[in-house]
Amino acid sequence: MAKLDEPLHKVLGDRTAKVLAKGLDLHTVGDLLHHYPRRYAHRGELTPLSELADGEHVTVMAEVVKVQGRTLSRSPGYVLEITVTDGTGELKLSFFGRKGSYRPEKDLSPGTRGLFAGKISTYRPRSGRGQRQLAHPQYKVVPDRAGQEAAQEWADEIIPIYPSTKGLDIETIGKSVGLVLDGLEPGADPMPEPTLRRHGFIGLREAYEGIHRPASWEELGRARKRLKWDEAFVLQVALAQRRRAAAALPAKARPLVEGGLLDGFDARLPFDLTSGQREVGREIAGDLALEHPMHRLLQGDVGAGKTVVALRAMLQVVDGGGQAALLAPTEVLAQQHYRSITGMLGELAQAGQLGGADNATRVVLLTGSQGAKARKATLLEAASGAAGIVVGTHALLEDHVQFADLGLVVVDEQHRFGVEQRDALREKVAGGRPHVLVMTATPIPRTVAMTVFGDLETSVLGQLPAGRAEISTHVVPPEKPAFLARTWERIKEEAGRGRQVYIVCPRIGEQEGDEGDVREPSDDGDRRSPLGIMELLPRLEELLAGLRLGVLHGKLHPDEKDAVMRRFAAGELDVLLATTVIEVGVDVPNATAMVIMDADRFGVSQLHQLRGRVGRGTLPGLCLLVTDAEPASKARERLDAVASTTDGFKLSRLDLEQRREGDVLGASQAGRSSSLRLLTLQRDEDVIRQARDEATALVEADPDLAGHPGLAAELAALLDEERTGFLEKT
Ligand code: ADP
Ligand code: MG
Repeated sequence: MAKLDEPLHKVLGDRTAKVLAKGLDLHTVGDLLHHYPRRYAHRGELTPLSELADGEHVTVMAEVVKVQGRTLSRSPGYVLEITVTDGTGELKLSFFGRKGSYRPEKDLSPGTRGLFAGKISTYRPRSGRGQRQLAHPQYKVVPDRAGQEAAQEWADEIIPIYPSTKGLDIETIGKSVGLVLDGLEPGADPMPEPTLRRHGFIGLREAYEGIHRPASWEELGRARKRLKWDEAFVLQVALAQRRRAAAALPAKARPLVEGGLLDGFDARLPFDLTSGQREVGREIAGDLALEHPMHRLLQGDVGAGKTVVALRAMLQVVDGGGQAALLAPTEVLAQQHYRSITGMLGELAQAGQLGGADNATRVVLLTGSQGAKARKATLLEAASGAAGIVVGTHALLEDHVQFADLGLVVVDEQHRFGVEQRDALREKVAGGRPHVLVMTATPIPRTVAMTVFGDLETSVLGQLPAGRAEISTHVVPPEKPAFLARTWERIKEEAGRGRQVYIVCPRIGEQEGDEGDVREPSDDGDRRSPLGIMELLPRLEELLAGLRLGVLHGKLHPDEKDAVMRRFAAGELDVLLATTVIEVGVDVPNATAMVIMDADRFGVSQLHQLRGRVGRGTLPGLCLLVTDAEPASKARERLDAVASTTDGFKLSRLDLEQRREGDVLGASQAGRSSSLRLLTLQRDEDVIRQARDEATALVEADPDLAGHPGLAAELAALLDEERTGFLEKT
């Protein structure tokens, strides 16, 4: 009787175990049982062949329509070509070798159904259309069965189809899983009994049976439901424990101080806070007043006014005698934050200077490209405590950066930083933890917030400040060339009115090691490469002759980048030709228009982010999405969606639907994503929410899972997996 942690070689023998370990990284009975079929087929049903993508390892069920041998003039002398169909499309299988030495000829006559596995490629004859093929596929004939009464049952039988893998025989997994299931003794169920009862879940053994050898679709459904819950629940228990542990840590309380810098700042703010900013501000102020560290995620669409919220939190901490660090993902952003914070604070940031307020503090900037002298001065101010606010890039994370009393870490644009980096900053506080506020402008769908960011509390700035002008977005499509001509005219008109324009390209171009922020088209490999700045520049110089044109991209020296940004911000440039380096946070209220070239090469959320750079003042914004994509294509649907709404949450849901899970979870979450097999963030919000509630309650009642040893073991396995994933990344 095999338990889940039994090594596979004991059950399957060394040879098979080795193959499974090498090909699929499966080592224990549990590993194998969690290697679920990718899909299921009826015998009576064929796999849609049109959905297969080049390069994909697939297993398909199809019917042979044609068998043809051809003698070749070159080695190996003979090819057997078998055409299979799903009823509409066709796929060609080719077997190379010497004539007569083949079983395929005998096994695969027209009318035969079979499973075929291999890597999809496109064969392009010198003339004619490319044809999908599987070269030297593995196959397994699905036996026909005569007899009337057996026929229906035969057609209904469910055949699991496992992801095919190079070097693995088509039947290996199915057979191995069968052997393992026959002798399985899963032990006590790790799920708490009340949970099982409440949801009417089936037992674990039954669930493994149901997912690997379902006798009916109902059985499969029950199995999936149970196993999906397990994934969601174990993950949520891990997160609940993490939240609990974090909440139990000591931190210095920084309650509001009357008549301090924060009050001074509020008094000099040129606008009223939105009700959202006030409400989130109250939540944060409350957190900061506690003796345990805040861990809060602040979401707000581009332009929602997160910086003010963060700055007010920082001032509360400075009022409480502490320091705040603001971590920005790029030099451009760090510089900009530094400028706008010192600007907003005015005399409140001029401690020790002429005209500085009595209780003033100091704001300093730390970036990687600073000269040694400036750097030394900054480090000194941070370490002595003279600087209340330290703004910087990841240079802030380095070991030699010391703070006198770091009370708050603000991380801007979370998605560029991993959990590990957040931890690096936290460790700069001796004998306690700083409060942490994470800000993101990429609206995060609830399910993602509850998993990836599940160890954080969440606040949302749902509305933009009043008086913010509209951004109108239009697609400039290939079938309307006049629109493109009009686009250049519009740029000149904007500049003529003293306004400024961004033009964004997906690449720098004419350069090695390009900024690879762009979604590669997966459907058609033959497309030209996306437009680069350097290719467009000469054309623009002609088209926009007379306008002052600046260029900004990631390969420029940081000083140069900052100089260009400064000139643009100061209105000394009419047009800024840039890559996505301007994506996050850049704030130039006089910029009113943006033209995005090859817009279909960007993701939905990315377009939304980019577009957020215009319409930031009271002037209405215009965004033009230039594309070559044909009408009615997927790419055009995406662009139309972006043009149709400025609701970032709506667009992020759309984006999520179009991406694969791994992309959503991001690189630093790789370990975690590998533990999500059935659960999808797109469709399982209910499961995730319920699991979160129940996991939180369970951890409250039994923090160390002393009463739930099975669950504790599952959790240990999950964390192990996560750690492995993390280690592989670093
Ligand atoms: P984001 O959330 O994208 O970081 P910012 O904090 O950069 O947004 O704010 C965008 C702009 O809106 C800034 O110029 C900021 O000064 C301004 N702003 C912030 N809050 C308000 C408000 N309540 N009323 C008017 N303008 C505001
Ligand atoms: Mg911002």
